[in-house]
Amino acid sequence: MKILVINSGSSSLKFELIDMTNEKSIAKGLCERIGIANPMISYKNLIKDIKITEQPEPMDDHKMAIDAVLKLLQDDSMGVIKSVDEIDAIGHRVVQGGAYFKDSALVDEKVISLVEELGELAPLHNPAAAMGVRVMMELLPDKKNVVVFDTSFHQTMEPKAYMYAFPYEDYEELKVRKYGAHGTSHRYVSEIAAQMFGKKDSKIIVCHLGNGASITAVKNGKVVDTSMGLTPLAGVMMGTRTGDVDPSAVVYIMEKRGLTPKEMNTRMNKQSGIKGIFGPSSDFRDLAAGVEEGNEKAKLAYEMFCYKIKSYIGAYAAAMNGLDAIAFTGGIGENAFYARRDICRDLTYLGIDLDEEKSSKWLPGNVEITKENSKVKVYKIETAEEIMIARDTYRLTRES
Ligand code: ADP
Repeated sequence: MKILVINSGSSSLKFELIDMTNEKSIAKGLCERIGIANPMISYKNLIKDIKITEQPEPMDDHKMAIDAVLKLLQDDSMGVIKSVDEIDAIGHRVVQGGAYFKDSALVDEKVISLVEELGELAPLHNPAAAMGVRVMMELLPDKKNVVVFDTSFHQTMEPKAYMYAFPYEDYEELKVRKYGAHGTSHRYVSEIAAQMFGKKDSKIIVCHLGNGASITAVKNGKVVDTSMGLTPLAGVMMGTRTGDVDPSAVVYIMEKRGLTPKEMNTRMNKQSGIKGIFGPSSDFRDLAAGVEEGNEKAKLAYEMFCYKIKSYIGAYAAAMNGLDAIAFTGGIGENAFYARRDICRDLTYLGIDLDEEKSSKWLPGNVEITKENSKVKVYKIETAEEIMIARDTYRLTRES
């Protein structure tokens, strides 16, 4: 049983083929610049450990990109399957499932039109994901497709957590509320954290820290609250996004600088966050190098980043009336051990007793970085969103 996982963006497409007998990824890659000049495909055969990057023939649309992917997967020397018959089903990552989807869903015409309709709330992501599904249905018509939403894990939030205090009609007519994001990662990581803690019924805060960053409070396997909102702009400060700000500041900057809503959106999503404060880069490794060199703005951005996360941890411990474990994941959460340590260092009042050695170096795998008798545990857990998408696809296609 092999599941192909597709993450389709407007001009890019990530893919991964997973063997469900052992949940191992056997091939993966990325198509970039679809529909733009100089498209690229990078591809990795993980069985033979070969990697290629090539500039394919024109890749004008997602159909050409997926066609190129299927050819590579079946290629005599580079491939991992003899024919597409070996692919049992396709799982697609979808950013926005709105209030419609509390779980992943087997694709039919109704499901795909809802994904398209929800493009109103995620204009950069949902139309591209829906296109990926439609292309797959056209290229491999006898295969089942499953859509897995970034938002569905967060659907357990109560109205008091997901409502914004705008006039009620903005919720009723425009569906403006908190939906959250990174749900597949939060679901996977909170499950592993509960296993490591040894109790399914536990209070866990997951910090998914990558270019995008979100914090989620998970009580007894259910989301109580999450930091991202209607869109992934809300919450903690990120690589290029502001995170939470006073909404009046947005209006003020627009008026003073004469910016259109679209321009302000770009400013808040692409030019802010670490990049906005530090300047040269949004990449956490560059930021850390800047801090090492004594760059004052790097130091400020780093301190702001850690402080906002710490504040959310405090808020969510209060929201759950307690805390058993904090799990760090994502490119920064998994690798920047110093950030994990600096975030947790001043959380002693919560009952966190860091292991100095384990919290001061990079460690492989899923590990605890607190002392054995620490009241609250801190873990570093490697996220695996693709595995979660493949698991849901496997489950739903077998049930049908
Ligand atoms: P995305 O949100 O795009 O999926 P990732 O989860 O891959 O992002 O995280 C990207 C971030 O992780 C970048 O800021 C990058 O600098 C940071 N990162 C990756 N590797 C390291 C590392 N070894 N040390 C510190 N930061 C790292």
